[in-house]
Amino acid sequence: MEKRWNLDQLYLSFQDESFLKDIETLKEMLEDMKKYPQKQKNESDLKDYLKEANAFEDLVEKIYAFISLTMSSDTTNQDALKYASIIENILAGFADTQAKIHRWIGQFDLENIHDTYVLEHMYILKEIQEHNRYLLSDEGEKILAQMKTTGSSAWLKYKDQLISSMKVSMDGKDYPLTEVLNMAYSKDKEVRKKAYEAEIASYVTVEQGVASALNAIKGEAITVTKLRGYESVLQRTLIDSRMSQKTLDALISTMKKALPMFERYFQLKAKALGYTNGLPWYELYAPIVESEMSYPYEKGSQFVIEQFYTFSKHLGDYAKKAIENHWIDVYPRAGKVGGAFCHNLHCIQESRFLLNYGNEFGDTITLGHELGHGFHGECLNTQTALNADYPMPIAETASTFCETIIKKAALCKAAPQQKLLILENELCDCAQVIVDIYSRFLFESRLIEKRQEGPLSVEEIKDLMLEAQKEAYGEGLDHQYLHPYMWTWKPHYYEADYAFYNFPYAFGLLLAKGLYGLYQKQGQSFADTYEHFLSLTGKMSLEDVGQSVGIDLKDMNFWQNSIDMIKEDIDLFEELLKQNS
Ligand SMILES: [Zn+2]
Repeated sequence: MEKRWNLDQLYLSFQDESFLKDIETLKEMLEDMKKYPQKQKNESDLKDYLKEANAFEDLVEKIYAFISLTMSSDTTNQDALKYASIIENILAGFADTQAKIHRWIGQFDLENIHDTYVLEHMYILKEIQEHNRYLLSDEGEKILAQMKTTGSSAWLKYKDQLISSMKVSMDGKDYPLTEVLNMAYSKDKEVRKKAYEAEIASYVTVEQGVASALNAIKGEAITVTKLRGYESVLQRTLIDSRMSQKTLDALISTMKKALPMFERYFQLKAKALGYTNGLPWYELYAPIVESEMSYPYEKGSQFVIEQFYTFSKHLGDYAKKAIENHWIDVYPRAGKVGGAFCHNLHCIQESRFLLNYGNEFGDTITLGHELGHGFHGECLNTQTALNADYPMPIAETASTFCETIIKKAALCKAAPQQKLLILENELCDCAQVIVDIYSRFLFESRLIEKRQEGPLSVEEIKDLMLEAQKEAYGEGLDHQYLHPYMWTWKPHYYEADYAFYNFPYAFGLLLAKGLYGLYQKQGQSFADTYEHFLSLTGKMSLEDVGQSVGIDLKDMNFWQNSIDMIKEDIDLFEELLKQNS
């Protein structure tokens, strides 16, 4: 059945008069905003700027969303491709204007502001002033931006090309890497093992090139952070994440402390699959029971709506609205991108969702996850566009929270065999987000440290990866079958401007668990607190957002409570395995 999203609320088509008119308006606004750096330090000018910047954000979002949503549901759409580059060109000139405006904002004494609209934006104004310390001269910024296109951006393209055209040979046939990676979920043990062995063997052809890209991108990150005056690459990520070192330390220490607990989970899974020496890498995603559940979209979406209503009327109404008003593009089809995402549209106070729904229980979870992102956007609709932009570590919190609502409900209602399946799925995910993320954090820390002295050889990079995996997984994995090449295809290591794109995942998961714990304690009354919490995520530090619900993110005890919730799941998992054997 056809279930496509409706984009009419944005524009009717690329020929729509309002679309063409909005592009003209966008150009005019860009021109107009050039006047601000010339102005005096008047509070009223600052207010005018903020109003215009908010309108500008909404307009860019509206135009850009129409282009990118059209493109993701129809990847060869020529109009979308054409307008994408037109908009890119228009916005290319904006970086320069923006840097000048930021310097202008830097001259204001923010302690002496009285206007309520300006005061409402105090956090981002102070943040801009703070960031100005790390700006180079206009000339310096221009040179960096230009060199980047032949530096990290070019290396990233080269790496993507190597990985996407890589062939894995198996039984005399060549497969693309993505297909072989998917075989880790196969029901057939032989397939899982063969796929892993073939995958590992095939990196020889690309390892030199990918290592060069990694060395170059990390080298650039180190150089740029030094030039800008940051203490370290990590400090830059923390500042961009609106998060303190103390919070990160509390999070990472708690993760480290939880490693033996996960070791127990891996060993339980290993035993269930018949291994005595820990889990081989290729069994990390192995199913331990067969799935008998079928969740067609009608049933799945109904289940999600029902469970969301148990949390609050607003959340339930929201899911219902999204599903009934055609905000969701449901099924896979030719020409549509893979995966799933949510695009929040502050400009029209709505969201759009892309799924590739396939009738599995996991697809229902994904629907709940994406609607959770959407509800985050819904709660931010009460804020201005500038105050609705939240930092990376909090991005997965609302989605994981809603996922937890669905999983807990499904677990309650399931028969024993299904329970084991749901629980295993959940623990497999948690183990990735805590244990594997911990290994990636170790790996990246050491990689950046060593890179300061010079480029690393392929062997050195592989050794760093193995060392990090041994430390993180301990005896949970069979050390004969680790994965020395995990740095090749994980995209996060190749983000030149946002390093350590790993701990945000653990932050999101454990914060969501912590919020769920508060919900369990406080019951229905937590719903309002939760909405208020989400509405603040774009306009204060993560620590202050936590404080709004009485959470101290710098305190290990908070994180530990979330880990304890996972421990309960591992205990139940062990019990169910015993009953099952
Ligand atoms: Zn997500």
